[in-house]
Amino acid sequence: MSVLVLEAREVQSLLDMEGCITAMSDVLASLARGELFQPLRQILQPPHAGTLFGLMPAHRGGGAPLYALKEIVIAPDNPARGMDSHQGSVLLHDGRTGELVALLNASPITAIRTAAVSAVATRALARGNSHRVAILGAGVQARAHVESMRAVLDDPEIRIWSRTAAHAEALATGVGASAAASVQEALEDADVVCTVTTSREPIIRREWLRDGVHVNAVGSSSPTARELDSATVAAAILFVDRRESISAESGDYLIPLREGAIGADHIAAELGEVLVRQHAGRTGNDEITLFKSLGIGVEDLAAAELVLRRARIGGVGHEVDF
Ligand code: NDP
Repeated sequence: MSVLVLEAREVQSLLDMEGCITAMSDVLASLARGELFQPLRQILQPPHAGTLFGLMPAHRGGGAPLYALKEIVIAPDNPARGMDSHQGSVLLHDGRTGELVALLNASPITAIRTAAVSAVATRALARGNSHRVAILGAGVQARAHVESMRAVLDDPEIRIWSRTAAHAEALATGVGASAAASVQEALEDADVVCTVTTSREPIIRREWLRDGVHVNAVGSSSPTARELDSATVAAAILFVDRRESISAESGDYLIPLREGAIGADHIAAELGEVLVRQHAGRTGNDEITLFKSLGIGVEDLAAAELVLRRARIGGVGHEVDF
């Protein structure tokens, strides 16, 4: 038995944004049709460690069944070391024999698949003529979101804000966007907003958003952290990647729920339900649509499977006896 090992640069070269957007759209639709299975992810957060360990398993049945496990350590201090804060791998197992078939570096998968899912949400939920994009944050996800927004919007005007102005300026210069001096300046007249920070407190206030905006809220992923104030969530039609994940893990949802700003019926639909037309999505130009992304294991399964298929065709990677 051999395992195909794929390094970060190999994964990166095989996972183009356009292809990943198609894969994410397909897998989220499959999830809505009940064709995949995934439990809630498990988070190991040792006291005082300053890091956390996430386990995200998923299964897809059918003709070539597959198990996937993303195992990832989040080390928030890594950017200061010049490293991605998300470190780990995606393991793929043959769903019939159980054999381990591939081991892929998870950093590019996490970056690209997350931005690709935001692109799917933007294509499904933003107003048709959306042009101005605000990206809040200037890290790994911000860079990937510049690419993914360009993939689904027609020559968008992109403004980037970050807590450290020099980071926003450096990213904006590198990708041909402009830097904004404040969140309000970035949000002014924005049609699409992507929040991709590690902030634990809201960085967006409802009064800074125009009616009709679409927001991809990507950064916060624990019950006690959020990027949006309660008024924004209450004013928006809320779409999610997975209901049970949001109800267990998302401060952007749980904090306004606890405050009484929204009710337990505030989640309109999963994104996949919009894709398979079980939900209409946006129904008016003045509506604020909000996609709360936490990231789910089936996304990693689909992205890793796409990379594996391409690696086999292109003879990329190292086969290791196991
Ligand atoms: P990075 O560490 O690369 O970037 C973090 C960004 O957050 C930086 O721009 C930083 O600003 C900013 N930031 C940090 N603290 C604050 C604060 N208190 N207020 C405002 N901004 C702040 O992280 P990534 O880009 O890899 O990830 C961004 C977020 O997205 C993380 O929270 C991560 O967990 C989440 N994520 C979500 C996924 C999903 O599927 N939904 C998948 C992967 C990641 P600066 O450096 O300018 O000071």
